[in-house]
Amino acid sequence: MWRAQVLTLFPDMFPGPLAYSLAGKALKTGIWGIETLDIRRWSIDKHGSVDDTPAGGGPGMVMRADVVGPALDFASSQAADCPLIYLSPRGDRLDQGAVAALASGPGISLLCGRFEGVDERVLEARAVRQVSLGDFVLSGGEPAAFALLDACIRLLPGVIGAPETLEEESFTGGLLEYPHYTRPNVWEGRKIPEILTSGDHAKVRAWRQAQAEQITRQRRPDLWQRYCAGSQAMSPSSQAPTGAPKEERQK
Ligand code: SAH
Repeated sequence: MWRAQVLTLFPDMFPGPLAYSLAGKALKTGIWGIETLDIRRWSIDKHGSVDDTPAGGGPGMVMRADVVGPALDFASSQAADCPLIYLSPRGDRLDQGAVAALASGPGISLLCGRFEGVDERVLEARAVRQVSLGDFVLSGGEPAAFALLDACIRLLPGVIGAPETLEEESFTGGLLEYPHYTRPNVWEGRKIPEILTSGDHAKVRAWRQAQAEQITRQRRPDLWQRYCAGSQAMSPSSQAPTGAPKEERQK
């Protein structure tokens, strides 16, 4: 079982959205499991305090090292082999490669911050890895934990019925995914691209590859550059002199 431990001030939020759809089914069948640890269990007084005012002044509150430290130690003692991650806007940006690496391990322990975040010393002392969802600020680590867990869970063996889905989707091959269509064939005067209804599988593959390249080049020059650098020997099809798609690249 892939194991998720979540340290949070709001344990009742979990499993929350992860109880639905694919993740929910996988939770029921035991492909993954979740345990929440209420950080308040380690509060320093009978009022249940976990935070205090920031040293140096300024707005907000900071989660105390002498509360978060023991909570982290408990989590580590329960799952020594699972990486300990603090969800933080100052962390390494999460991407599909990091998600895949986490999903292939035994599980993760996640620390969800609230207020202004956590006393820096505890992050240093426990060598906590910091992971960010992106360059924006959430009000707490919990929504980030849902996103990170969801991304990992769908990669666990047996969660997605047709594993080919995972091979083709955005980021897996370094490109954004090609567009999808379904019935009706004509909607508000817009037709599904003819190639997709031609039944010619080779043409469909080539069209999808060319679309994926074009969309990535237009929307994400950063991904596109990395993709081109990674496939120098086989220059991407939309860079080919004719502009015509080449045969599909090896995955
Ligand atoms: N004062 C902090 C933000 C605190 S937000 C700063 O400016 O860096 C409160 C909590 O929300 C954080 O401790 C963190 O756990 C979570 N959080 C906010 N934005 C996040 C993001 N982009 N990725 C992951 N977690 C985030």
